Amino acid sequence: MNSSDRRFACPGLFRIVPSLDGGICRIKLPRGRLSAGQARALAGLAARHGHPEIEATNRANVQIRGVHAGEEEALIAALVEAGLAPKSSGADDVRNVMVSPLCGLDPEALFDVSDLADRVLARLEAEPRYHTLSPKFSIEIDGGESVAMIQHPNDIWFSAINGNSFAFGFSGVPGETPAGAVAAADVEAALFALLDQFIAMIGTRNAKGDKITRMRHLLVDRRPAEMAAALPCKVHAIGDWRREEPMALGHLGARRQIGGRFALGGVPPLGRIGPAMMRGLADLAAHVAGGEIRMTPWQSVLLPNIDESALPEAQERLEELGFVTRPDRTLAATITCAGSAGCKSGHTDTKADALALANAIDGWGTLIFGIHLTGCAKSCAAPRPAPFTLLGLNPGHYDLFVADKATGGDGGMAGFGERIGHDLTIEQAAQLLMQRKPTA
Ligand code: SF4
Repeated sequence: MNSSDRRFACPGLFRIVPSLDGGICRIKLPRGRLSAGQARALAGLAARHGHPEIEATNRANVQIRGVHAGEEEALIAALVEAGLAPKSSGADDVRNVMVSPLCGLDPEALFDVSDLADRVLARLEAEPRYHTLSPKFSIEIDGGESVAMIQHPNDIWFSAINGNSFAFGFSGVPGETPAGAVAAADVEAALFALLDQFIAMIGTRNAKGDKITRMRHLLVDRRPAEMAAALPCKVHAIGDWRREEPMALGHLGARRQIGGRFALGGVPPLGRIGPAMMRGLADLAAHVAGGEIRMTPWQSVLLPNIDESALPEAQERLEELGFVTRPDRTLAATITCAGSAGCKSGHTDTKADALALANAIDGWGTLIFGIHLTGCAKSCAAPRPAPFTLLGLNPGHYDLFVADKATGGDGGMAGFGERIGHDLTIEQAAQLLMQRKPTA
């Protein structure tokens, strides 16, 4: 595929999409995994062909921004050489299977979904009919891990209820209006039967006249219920089942694994990993984690399989490299979109403003977690409202919204919650946030 194909569609490895600061090349990682060698290759390629800082995405992928015009094909060829490409260019977009970064490692998980996710990914890549799915069409396979992203909606989700069965649902998050449950042994067949039904409807229109490209387009017609009823396996009602809440900030620091080893998580400030950070991370992974790095949907990294004896030194090294591994800085849970530095729709330089905001808050001796700065109302970095959203208005000025439990969910203006401040400077926003008795 030529890199200029579908110029304004989602970025991919084979489809480098133009943006304000150059091309964006998104590299989708099966189950978020990256080898130390691939991380080193990425560091070199980003420095050579684009912005040296690699971005971690909220779908546990990575992307290179600022790709120089005329160098797209060279970058693509080098990424293929590094083993970061799918088996065919047509299979790139379909690699959207979300799992916990602790998948296969978590002693609290209800089901180890690693093999299941691998089989699903392999089949999605191998069978061209699934390549007709939208590049944004995503599937979550949740084993009930204690560290899990259950705020990002997916087109189809399966979530373990126990070791024998999975709930499933559409266009939402695990536990949200489930359509039913199937036996664990039937998940793969059920998922592909749903995909086959959906693919047959792609391009047709729903009752509102919308062209069907995502599962949400079917919700108006109640067709998901019909799809579930037509599955080639037994579908159970699941009553008032709710997915257990994952651990807050569980992606930070050390987590004990099955077998007694540890996984160690670190957040690169604002999701950006510079070349020295990436090379250092690769070296550390090779030294303590069997060469494995896992990207997470919190725009962060996790190193698995670390011996207890190596853990303190590994955590210290990760901090030295610039990753936040403890909830001792507001940047541990602050996210932004590209903002005006990288996106023509951005009204504000979200990255620079986020650093100033976090520094101001930390400087006052407190911490606030769950801040999202967005350059416009599209909210690319946060599919669901963050506890605190700063919506860019014009350079250095934001509206501030709160969507915490006390103020009630995700309604309100712009869908970010209750607006508690208008046209604030960063200093004013920091002061107002301090008054809100923030939650960890
Ligand atoms: S939220 Fe707006 S400003 Fe930010 S990256 Fe998306 S479109 Fe651009």
